[in-house]
Amino acid sequence: MKGLQPMKGTSRNKNERKKETLSSTWAITKRILKTLGMYMLKVFTYSMNVLLTVMLIGIVAGSIMAAALAIYCNENIDAYFEIQDLQLDLDETTTLYYQNDAGEWIELEEDRLYGEENRLWISYDRIPSNLYQAFVAIEDKRFFTHSGVDFRRTLGAFLGFAAGTTSYGGSTITQQLIKNITHEDDTTIQRKMQEILRALDFETRKTKEEILEMYLNTIYLSQGCYGVQTASAKYFNKDVSELSLVECAAIAAIPQYPTRWDPIQNPAGNKERRDVILKEMFTQGIITKEDYEEAKNTELVLATEGQEQTTSTVHSYYIDTVISDVLKDLQKELGYTETMAYRMLYSGGLKIYTCLKPNVQNALEDVYESALETIYAAEKKKIPDAGVAPQSAISVVDNSTGYLVGVVGGIGKKETARGLNRATQSTRQPGSSIKPISIYSIALEKGVISFGSSVDDTPALYKNGSPYPRNSNTTGTFSGRNTVVQAVKSSFNTIPMKLLIEMTPEYIYEFMTTKYHFSTLVYNEVTPTGRVVSDLGLSSLSLGGLTYGVTTREMTQAYATFPNNGTFREAISYQYIETKDGEILISNMPETEQILSEETAFSMNELLKGVVSGGTGSKASPTLKKEMNNQMAGKTGTTNDSKDLYFSGYTPYYTAAVWFGYDKPKSLGRFSTSPALTLWSKCMDAIHQPIIDSTAKKDRLTFASMSNMVKCKICKVSGLKATAACELDPRGSQVTQSYFMVSKQPKTECNMHVQVKWCTVSKSVAGPDCPEETCKVISLVKLNVTDRYFETNIKVNDAQYIYMTVPENYVYPTDTTKAFFINLYPSNRYPGYSINTTRPVNSFCVEHNQSLTADNGSYKRPTDVKDNKNAPSQTTAGG
Ligand SMILES: [Zn+2]
Ligand SMILES: [Zn+2]
Repeated sequence: MKGLQPMKGTSRNKNERKKETLSSTWAITKRILKTLGMYMLKVFTYSMNVLLTVMLIGIVAGSIMAAALAIYCNENIDAYFEIQDLQLDLDETTTLYYQNDAGEWIELEEDRLYGEENRLWISYDRIPSNLYQAFVAIEDKRFFTHSGVDFRRTLGAFLGFAAGTTSYGGSTITQQLIKNITHEDDTTIQRKMQEILRALDFETRKTKEEILEMYLNTIYLSQGCYGVQTASAKYFNKDVSELSLVECAAIAAIPQYPTRWDPIQNPAGNKERRDVILKEMFTQGIITKEDYEEAKNTELVLATEGQEQTTSTVHSYYIDTVISDVLKDLQKELGYTETMAYRMLYSGGLKIYTCLKPNVQNALEDVYESALETIYAAEKKKIPDAGVAPQSAISVVDNSTGYLVGVVGGIGKKETARGLNRATQSTRQPGSSIKPISIYSIALEKGVISFGSSVDDTPALYKNGSPYPRNSNTTGTFSGRNTVVQAVKSSFNTIPMKLLIEMTPEYIYEFMTTKYHFSTLVYNEVTPTGRVVSDLGLSSLSLGGLTYGVTTREMTQAYATFPNNGTFREAISYQYIETKDGEILISNMPETEQILSEETAFSMNELLKGVVSGGTGSKASPTLKKEMNNQMAGKTGTTNDSKDLYFSGYTPYYTAAVWFGYDKPKSLGRFSTSPALTLWSKCMDAIHQPIIDSTAKKDRLTFASMSNMVKCKICKVSGLKATAACELDPRGSQVTQSYFMVSKQPKTECNMHVQVKWCTVSKSVAGPDCPEETCKVISLVKLNVTDRYFETNIKVNDAQYIYMTVPENYVYPTDTTKAFFINLYPSNRYPGYSINTTRPVNSFCVEHNQSLTADNGSYKRPTDVKDNKNAPSQTTAGG
């Protein structure tokens, strides 16, 4: 304000001095004008002062802000950006090796990985100019002249954003590339600043061509496609070099709104957008008017479903598995993006030391190439037409190392590069093949059962006697008291379910996922349709009806724990990766953990040997079984609807799991022998042949024996130490031999077999009035009413051998077709019955004891208690 005072004073003095000379109109006019001028001068000077002040404040504030921003950027923004592993000079072939029996590494010369094989990456010189020009025209028309950031567009975008008219960020191709690779979105000012600074920095070190190549190879183009080469194959079944102008525009149309402008999902949207692109290309002088008109009027022809092909080399399913594993590990272990991993694998000159056993892999491939012929010839049936024929997969682990040594992911000759690998990618229902893993091994380990245990093969019941859902055997007949050995051999459903209830689904789930490392089980998940799915249900874990299922690779890996004395090993496909300079990039030594005791592993081997020697797996290669001195074990798996067939099994040398079924699950119909078992046998025969040829039969490996295991006499019914009573069972002696650790030999004697006086005249349980000379002593099996308390009278084979204690003054039934203790049951509950008998062994001798059947009023039949508060809720039992 100081500068304004003297000027004001000066004008006042002048006015006073010349006051008297101003008398004419002109003078008045002049005066008015002068006053006006003075006023305007005043306004001007005032404005200038304000402006200068504002500018000064602006400069000061601006400097402070700039300094603050610089400090902020320095501390919060990493302006440097480098994509080390996308180096464009990287173009070295990756080589793979296998280890021969002498331990030498031999190169797999036919399985070299070349840069051009990389389905994702296409070098700049192979990208047609129409394609990159289409992208530049629509995404960033000043791309070739700006320095990484288009400030004109950034400002426009900022103003548009501030005015609320647009949300588009005005990113250049360079900025988009950085965003795509770092997966960092510019939703915050900080991110946006970082992106701008990085783009500016990046442009100083890369050429426009390099940037464009990286951009076009990493951009998302809908339908799961990353990069123009993948998109070109997907949409047009072509290599990018073959794309026409309209096809180039159609691909360039996608990125901004992949779903809205995807040519498959929204052809009209794509047409609209690509016309905009063509027009831009024409107005920017990239294409001629004729080209523009022609392309605009050309109809887009999309590749038909399933037509998609790649020009890549077709490797074996094994090499495909190695490629997938390496790509996954490069991302997981080294933090690479998918594109970087591909780039490194195909062009990084890596050396990959695989676990492949070529003789095993070749043998498997031979069997699988003609698998359908083998199966249908054995069944004397016509082979279904290709395309509607069932499929199969096998994974093989070498028990000496735990490595995955052979994989086949489909029937027939392999014609696609990295197509569907059913062995490692398809999750299918294992059926009963899961029981040894999910139930028996864990129950043995937890001490819930032992090898010699006995269990009751009858439906599992709630405490109030209501049945659990889905827990019957497929035949609808139950065997009653039986051994675990028999339960495994005959694949009973009831016993795994009872054991699961006892151990709890949560415990099993935990063991399956953390010890056996199954990766596809579901704890609790909401599907896109809003359905809640879980593998914690009783039938899921005990019968193998899982939400998604399991892969043969993970089944094989789990089963291999048994022949490996209880130590779990991850079934790796490669041991380590070296860089081109010979440094270890990834060491892949498998995760191992003793998850089962040696005793449990020993018991599992014995149990599963029983399945192939005389149980549901008895058709497993008889020749090999003999050659292996019966050292063969395994378990079948069939789902109720016959949509999936499984066989998992092993010898001391190899473990293998086979799945058989349709790609789109449907019933397989009937087979006299499970094709899964047939293929398992064929493959195992073939891969064991070199062992049979080179090793004398007596020198072949056996499953580990346990020096401190002893055989003890036990009772089949109770699983306890056998007594004389166990031999008096009317079915014959129930004494058998079983394995126990010396320290765990059963000391308790059988308390289930009770000696009962039996009348030989009536052939039923004797009463006090039966003549002594007509009676003999037999043993029956003592149970409690609550052990068998069914809603319907089901078939239980041993029902006529059961004994129950009756109270004093009990009134015996007159009905001789029923057990003597039937009056302990209310009229709506049943103990089960034996078929093919009208006079059960445990009926009552009414012939000599009529007085005891007359109701003297002292004995009341029990009434059922409906609202049992102890019963678990239905939700925990949901199948
Ligand atoms: Zn007994
Ligand atoms: Zn009698």
